[in-house]
Amino acid sequence: MKILNRITTKWFYNNAHVHILKSTTPLRLYVHIPFCAHKCHYCDFNSHVRNQPAWQQYQQALLHELKQWASHPSFKGKKLASLFFGGGTPSLAPASLISAVIEMAEQQFGLSEQCEISLEANPGSAEAERFQAYHKAGINRLSIGVQSLDRMELRWLERIHNPEEALNAFQMARSAGFNNINLDLMFGLPKQTLAQWQQTLQAAIQLGAEHLSCYQLTVEAHTALAAKHAQTPYPLPDDELALSMFHNTRKQLAHADYHAYEISNFSRPTLKCQHNDGYWQYDDYIGIGAGAAGKWNNIDGGVTRYSNIRTPERYIEEASNCGTAINSQELLSHEAAAAEACWLALRRTDGLDRIAFKQRFGFDAAEHFSSAFNPWVTQQMLLVDKHSIYLSASGLPLADMISASVL
Ligand code: SF4
Repeated sequence: MKILNRITTKWFYNNAHVHILKSTTPLRLYVHIPFCAHKCHYCDFNSHVRNQPAWQQYQQALLHELKQWASHPSFKGKKLASLFFGGGTPSLAPASLISAVIEMAEQQFGLSEQCEISLEANPGSAEAERFQAYHKAGINRLSIGVQSLDRMELRWLERIHNPEEALNAFQMARSAGFNNINLDLMFGLPKQTLAQWQQTLQAAIQLGAEHLSCYQLTVEAHTALAAKHAQTPYPLPDDELALSMFHNTRKQLAHADYHAYEISNFSRPTLKCQHNDGYWQYDDYIGIGAGAAGKWNNIDGGVTRYSNIRTPERYIEEASNCGTAINSQELLSHEAAAAEACWLALRRTDGLDRIAFKQRFGFDAAEHFSSAFNPWVTQQMLLVDKHSIYLSASGLPLADMISASVL
């Protein structure tokens, strides 16, 4: 494989001797804030309830990590294309922490022009003053975890907010100056009818958010919900109802001029989430914070992936003492990285860019994965043209299955 403008070097990391290269893909930064006011029973994110989170120590640990990653040869000299504060509940964090991380990121890496800087906020922890302070700190995109605008559904989800607080959080965000707002919504809840979901979606559309993320509830293993569901199953929608909710979502949002750029994500033109789109395009990213993950390209065309210690207190100790807090690290071969890049790209409506893929991995994806693709191509669920490989309307609901066939 021919590699242009790339620097080969060796970097010693946690006693591992790893060959890396400076990639030409955009670099992104994810910052994990692991604290929540309450653990929702369906949640499998790395979130922890603490009476008084150790914000000062957590901030110091994040800054230590950021400095350390800035010296990584694969990232050195690269500006950040986007930042994302996710959780947990980042909107519990003091604005001074958010501001300090952004300042350090700018100082150590530099931010690209029009760098998207997102923060996840929960309506239950929304405060007008804090939203204003986040905006002032440089956050230019707010993602609000509304989930539902139905009182009973929110109660079942164990969210700490009610519909009024969700609507109020949106207005607060607007008043604070945010003109790029996402609302997270969830469908496929027990006993939820299509009409109820349509109503929630319509209310969200009427608010005029620039971006909507609509995910179907899944019962994730090792959650409190999974344990309860195993004992007494919840009346979740059957396949037919779930499918009609999925199709209706696309139809209703297309009608309201939202562009479906990914299976579950919809935006006004030009306002897709650049950060998440970067994951699906297999960009490099640094993850800092408890349980955060990152990846970078290696000289053999494969990638290195890592994830951090998940418990906040152990993370703080390790990052403060060592500058990093890696819990596990994994090397993916060139072949495995290509399969993973393909799997992720098929989530995007535009699908996989064959030319960019070939430049990056040295072979054509349509030829290389033809045996995995053929059954789906025959059924017209997967479409292949000169430039792209992408899911058809009938293939979209089976995206997970179709894309996983390359792994
Ligand atoms: S608020 Fe979000 S991250 Fe926190 S427990 Fe609930 S679902 Fe998980």
